[in-house]
Amino acid sequence: MKKLILVFLFLIASAFASDIKVQVLGSGGPELNDNRASSAYIIWVDNKSKILVDFGGGAALRFEEVKAKIEDLDIILLTHLHIDHTADLPALLKASFFSNRFKDIEIYGPDKGLFVPDTKTFINRLFENKKGAWEYMGDFLDGNAQFKLQTTVIPFSKEIKTIYDKNNIKIKAISVNHGPIPATAYKVSIDGKSITFSGDMSGKYSTLEKLAVNSNILIAHNAVPKGAQGVAKNLHMTPDIIGYIAKEAKVKNLVLSHRMLRTLGKEDITKKEIRKYYEGKINFAEDKSIYLVQ
Ligand SMILES: [Zn+2]
Repeated sequence: MKKLILVFLFLIASAFASDIKVQVLGSGGPELNDNRASSAYIIWVDNKSKILVDFGGGAALRFEEVKAKIEDLDIILLTHLHIDHTADLPALLKASFFSNRFKDIEIYGPDKGLFVPDTKTFINRLFENKKGAWEYMGDFLDGNAQFKLQTTVIPFSKEIKTIYDKNNIKIKAISVNHGPIPATAYKVSIDGKSITFSGDMSGKYSTLEKLAVNSNILIAHNAVPKGAQGVAKNLHMTPDIIGYIAKEAKVKNLVLSHRMLRTLGKEDITKKEIRKYYEGKINFAEDKSIYLVQ
């Protein structure tokens, strides 16, 4: 009887649970000869494009191709401020002028570092009245436009911080090591299902494995191959590190993205390295790949 009640409760909960998908808009890095857009992802909730994670070059066109809507966007999470993760943000903002969007957009991103400003200063430098590169868009910062960009800087932390908890969406963040560039990994949980985004990182802080615990999907950046050395290894995870983290965190599905010429064509050896530790599902992302979060 108890079992029957549990099954019944599960069916009721499933009937009301949101349909959650994550779509890769850009599965590449900064290169322009890989036929891939740079880093960008959408989380679809009940077929609405609610959350963006990064928005690198080419993402604006992919956004259009997958029929995402600016009107449905609530949140933009920036893992870090490198060009291949942020370059199409001005295109998105300009396009919003021609949309029916009237609700503020929340942007989150890391604090400043040696070579980059904090995320709020970064957005100001793009659009601020009289100072920004595109100062004619300043109305979107001072509240005189149809909506406002609300930017929140996430301070450096090797402990997990909840940065958003509204409308059934919970977002946690933790700092990850991307050489000298401040970088943040995010875990987005909706109805008890979660997706973790590594962003670009080396694995040196051992923080991603804490954040990603029990994620339904971990999107990890496969920017360097087995045996990478020097700068590449200081900035990025080699495949064995990705495998170790996926295993430690017990993730259900590992999606490899931010693929680059140096990793493309090496999928077999990459997979073998990951399999030293991790036994779950492995997918190599393409632009517009879509994954049900389950
Ligand atoms: Zn990158």
